[in-house]
Amino acid sequence: MEIVDRKEKQDLRKLTLAQVKTFLAEHGEPGFRAKQIYEWLWKKSVTDFGQMTNLSLKTRELLAGHFEIRPLTVANQQISSDKTIKSAFKLFDGKVVEGVLIPTDDRMTACVSSQVGCSLTCKFCATGYMDRERNLDAAEIYDQVVAIKTQAEQAYGAPLSNIVYMGMGEPLLNYANVLESVERITSPDGLGMSPKRITVSTAGIAKQIKKLGDDGVKFNLALSLHAADDAKRNQIMPINESNTLAALKDALVYFYQKTGNKITLEYIVFYHFNDTLDDARALWNFAKQIPGVHINIIEYNPIANAEFRNTDPETLARFARFLEDKRLSVTVRRSRGKDIDAACGQLAGKVPSLAVPPTP
Ligand code: SF4
Repeated sequence: MEIVDRKEKQDLRKLTLAQVKTFLAEHGEPGFRAKQIYEWLWKKSVTDFGQMTNLSLKTRELLAGHFEIRPLTVANQQISSDKTIKSAFKLFDGKVVEGVLIPTDDRMTACVSSQVGCSLTCKFCATGYMDRERNLDAAEIYDQVVAIKTQAEQAYGAPLSNIVYMGMGEPLLNYANVLESVERITSPDGLGMSPKRITVSTAGIAKQIKKLGDDGVKFNLALSLHAADDAKRNQIMPINESNTLAALKDALVYFYQKTGNKITLEYIVFYHFNDTLDDARALWNFAKQIPGVHINIIEYNPIANAEFRNTDPETLARFARFLEDKRLSVTVRRSRGKDIDAACGQLAGKVPSLAVPPTP
């Protein structure tokens, strides 16, 4: 039997600039090449060493002999009649995550994933019915943004204006890689976007929200609230059992005091579950404790796995009006991509390499 030594090559993008410099020095190459290589990797997003045309052939061969650049490819894509584009991205190991381009009159927003699957089992979410398989690394998150940015430019002739971390996974359970991806997206050596254009969304992990405050992040934060009553929230988001509304309120106030960054509460209005005026009052009581908060009231995009339904337009309007009358800052967001599998986790679930358990 032939035994083949298949030493796995390291992804070059896992190295810091300083590490690339050290590698070059160890192989007799000048240090200034590191910056050139970094530009090819991050600013120009090349996927092949052969494309690094300002490096000598010898340097390119040296890199190719030791490293690889792990690609992200589009495995499936759907375009909605409202122009939303949803992509299933295949990672180097065959796993699949989702990213969405959401075009509106005044912005082009990329929604990206932070994990393959999710461990948090929110009952209304298609991803919540998948196992968490692994975290994405910073380059895999960054590549989704680059791919969606290209879609915005090619399909709609407009630059990407905003990024939300609201795809598959809980970003704060992949803390270091999410922060590193933001660093790359905002760096002049990367995409050079403003952190004010980035929102990281969490299901609510109080300790990690406080850590964001301690780390002085510059991006905005969204909390997927969906119920402002512990008993109700426990039913749809089991993470609430260990991160109660009181703990989340303290963490959000702490985050705001430390950073002054914008905080949004996301609230999906489910038919006959959280859509009464008593529910709106509970939301008001929660929200009024958080300085500068904004509330997004969101229509539900139903999934096959769960029994939840979208509430009717009159109830939705009455719910929003109650909050506006209390002088809260409120936006009602229509559900996008209703004619495609735009709810988080639906499209990836249709790519055969990613198994989705049957309807519970
Ligand atoms: S809503 Fe977010 S945190 Fe909850 S299961 Fe879905 S992906 Fe995970």
